[in-house]
Amino acid sequence: MDQNKFNERIQDLVEEAEQKPRRREKKEKPQLKESIYSLRLDQLQEWLKENGEKAFRAGQIYEWLYEKRVKTFEEMSNLSKALREKLEENFALTTLSTIIKQESKDGTIKFLFQLQDGYSIETVLMRHDYGNSVCVTTQVGCRIGCTFCASTLGGLKRHLLAGEIVEQVVKVQQALDEVNERVSHIVIMGIGEPFDNYDAMMNFLKVINDDKGLNIGARHITVSTSGIVPKIYQFADEQLQINFALSLHAPNQELRQKLMPIARAYKLEDLMEAIRYYTNKTGRRVSFEYGLFGGENDSVEHAEELSKLIKGIKCHVNLIPVNYVPERDYVRTPRNQIFAFEKTLKKNGINVTIRREHGSDIDAACGQLRAKERAQETR
Ligand code: SF4
Repeated sequence: MDQNKFNERIQDLVEEAEQKPRRREKKEKPQLKESIYSLRLDQLQEWLKENGEKAFRAGQIYEWLYEKRVKTFEEMSNLSKALREKLEENFALTTLSTIIKQESKDGTIKFLFQLQDGYSIETVLMRHDYGNSVCVTTQVGCRIGCTFCASTLGGLKRHLLAGEIVEQVVKVQQALDEVNERVSHIVIMGIGEPFDNYDAMMNFLKVINDDKGLNIGARHITVSTSGIVPKIYQFADEQLQINFALSLHAPNQELRQKLMPIARAYKLEDLMEAIRYYTNKTGRRVSFEYGLFGGENDSVEHAEELSKLIKGIKCHVNLIPVNYVPERDYVRTPRNQIFAFEKTLKKNGINVTIRREHGSDIDAACGQLRAKERAQETR
């Protein structure tokens, strides 16, 4: 990425976070039909009232969507024909069509979905001993520019609608219905920066957590960010019981800036202050995702520096050994060095695990998901 493009991306982020008017004209985007899955129960009740219908119909519609998981409005047989027509006119029930469904030997299923406007996104179902976990995508592309991530190379194409994120889970659940299994966990770690599509992400969380929606417990949901500071404060103030992960990857400003250009917009010092605010406000721990990039951030000195940086924070560190990064010079950290890094953190009283190494791609906790690696993820 050239420097100008990079600067534009960071500027976009800062402006959005601070809600300043944009300086550059954006291309006109194609109109998307709103997904019915975007609506929280209260929003659906409101919409029904505004359209001359009874609010209780929202419960019936939710049952068709999330319990019976119908594929057309037509099947909602306890609704009047007029209401079904209104729903059809105003909302899309299907915004994703499955292009590829690939199943691996270990049960992992990778879905490639096509969106209404032709873009495609990836969703992955991972089978664990503790349940079935779905990793969802929140954006088409990404503008954060992490140097180890291919998802950002084409920039951000668009944010996903909340309903497009919900429908990823519904589609996976429909596949699991065939084998009488249930989606039990969600990780928001697919392509995109969820905090860059904050409102849609929040609606997604509310719909999947709603006991009349997909009824997935907050403690079974994890959201991961690259570190958009104002949104961390906002998220902390939501006071949710959702697991929170930060892609940290470096123990100091200089190195983080090199690996993750977002650090130029949000300094490490400010980021750590926001993390402290989060843990104090919620009483919950944070997971620090730390990719080990050979010769870059993986020495015992780095481990000591990291220990100092996160000292006193209620946290867990997830070390992610990186094997190969296309288009970059990052190389693999030798095994003994991975253990030395881990040992140093443990010696300093830090709770740490190493994600088991598989495949040759990087998995850096947000975006750049690779099914075969995720399937082997340790907790
Ligand atoms: S790692 Fe995540 S935040 Fe960073 S560029 Fe990739 S998708 Fe975006």
